[in-house]
Amino acid sequence: MKLHVVAVVSLLALAATASAVTYDATNTASNTAGGRRFDQAVGLSYAKQVLSDASTFCWNIFNQRSTAERKPVNAVTLVVEDIGGVAFTSGNGIHLSAQYVGGYSGDVKREVTGVLYHEVAHVWQWNGQGRANGGLIEGIADFVRLKAGYAPGHWVKPGQGDRWDQGYDVTARFLDYCESLKRGFVAQLNAKMKDGYSDDFFAQILGKNVQQLWSDYKAKYGG
Ligand SMILES: [Zn+2]
Repeated sequence: MKLHVVAVVSLLALAATASAVTYDATNTASNTAGGRRFDQAVGLSYAKQVLSDASTFCWNIFNQRSTAERKPVNAVTLVVEDIGGVAFTSGNGIHLSAQYVGGYSGDVKREVTGVLYHEVAHVWQWNGQGRANGGLIEGIADFVRLKAGYAPGHWVKPGQGDRWDQGYDVTARFLDYCESLKRGFVAQLNAKMKDGYSDDFFAQILGKNVQQLWSDYKAKYGG
């Protein structure tokens, strides 16, 4: 009996090790104004927590209940750097611009949180083996940010934009419309994007092609 319990506990420990994702954050720009603002207004321990929370959030949005369904990533890292732009993600490494943090006017902790949700989505989303529409990739990342409650005030309103694959906020709002037609749409779309990409995925899931869906979406908001 005792041996049996030990065996079960060992198995559980093994399973936990196999599925554990580690999160790490560093600031290599602490000697710059933006880096100092990051340390004061956001902080590395909070940022690490956001990496973890956002990862769990992505698995829920993508409806990936087991590690087998997720991208095989075992670490998500953030580096705050003295670079331009806002942020970018390469593999499982997120790079945040200290210059952007320094120049942001408004609630910078909330803004950084939103940016991190977007970048963490890039870590976990499938990209159609590199063949997916770039605007859609950015739209899915902003869809994650939107659903997490971190859409900034300057985003387009629902119904705005010129093309479904314009990217970012425009595509995120459109995906939210598609999601309203069928709950779990974005999860299904992302799952299909594991092995490749086709605009026809929209029709396969929703029964209407993406151009028709965009027309319906624009019509709903009077555009
Ligand atoms: Zn992005």
